[in-house]
Amino acid sequence: MCSTKPTPSIDYSKRSGYFRTRIVWPNVFFFIFLHCAALYTVFGCAHLWSWKIFCVWYLTACLSAYSVSIGAHRLWSHRCFKARLPLRIVLMLLNCMAGQNDLFVWCRDHRLHHKYTDTDADPHSTTRGMFFAHMGWLMLKKHDAVIEKGKSLDCSDLLGDPVIRFQRRFYIPLYFLGVVIVPSWIIYRCFDVPLLFAVGTSLTRYTFQLHNTWCINSLAHWFGDRPYDKNIKACDNPVIKWHLIGECFHNYHHVFPFDYKSSEFPFTIFDTSSSLIRLLSYVGLTYDLKEASQEAVARRKEKIGQDGGLY
Ligand SMILES: [Zn+2]
Ligand SMILES: [Zn+2]
Repeated sequence: MCSTKPTPSIDYSKRSGYFRTRIVWPNVFFFIFLHCAALYTVFGCAHLWSWKIFCVWYLTACLSAYSVSIGAHRLWSHRCFKARLPLRIVLMLLNCMAGQNDLFVWCRDHRLHHKYTDTDADPHSTTRGMFFAHMGWLMLKKHDAVIEKGKSLDCSDLLGDPVIRFQRRFYIPLYFLGVVIVPSWIIYRCFDVPLLFAVGTSLTRYTFQLHNTWCINSLAHWFGDRPYDKNIKACDNPVIKWHLIGECFHNYHHVFPFDYKSSEFPFTIFDTSSSLIRLLSYVGLTYDLKEASQEAVARRKEKIGQDGGLY
């Protein structure tokens, strides 16, 4: 653990893997606790699980995953489409279940990731290794460049949304309600299981969900195809695509971040978030869906895309 010396002038194009900072021990202990609780609930309480409990568990996992993919990522971070107030409220409430910081912080960090990918100002730069990009960055004090650039980034549109302001104001009680209290209460009341086990199922879902999201920062910047830009680390990852939520076409997403589909393909089972956004547009809950043109995609592939690959 070391103290950070303030850097007078920071070179944001620098891609150094090493920096001195301090460990955020409360976060370290929290993640250790979370993983121990999840492992004990899965293996130590295996006899208490039933397929009905697993279905509810899986449903809450999917709902919180969609709140991140459709809400935090494509709606609020990238403005790929617009959404009516009732949908924004639902996405915000489900997002509390995901428990990945309030929407303002999540979107600001994600915008920094896109604008300064793999430089010192990227909160989870892969130049510091895959563990850092996956979850290590949450256990260390942020680099000065991340803090400085985060302050100067224009996020006025986020604070202009009353739904985000509400969540930010009441985030701590909403976090506990969404991550633990409500999902545990549902399982406790519906399946007549011990309360501690019900809490354990919520913590298991939360841990699983966190890794699901973190894999996009690590695996999808590590290995896979680069059909749209062979010069960047972000790649279309074959492992992440099996969670079916979307976000696996990360090379495409870094090249065309404004596209609501997050992929070239209008209909693909590997990106159900896009189908949901389109479905919601038929009932007027989403509108102004933005897409990259087929010509622009083809041009890009021909110009700097990587040939061949897994897809
Ligand atoms: Zn990325
Ligand atoms: Zn993004």
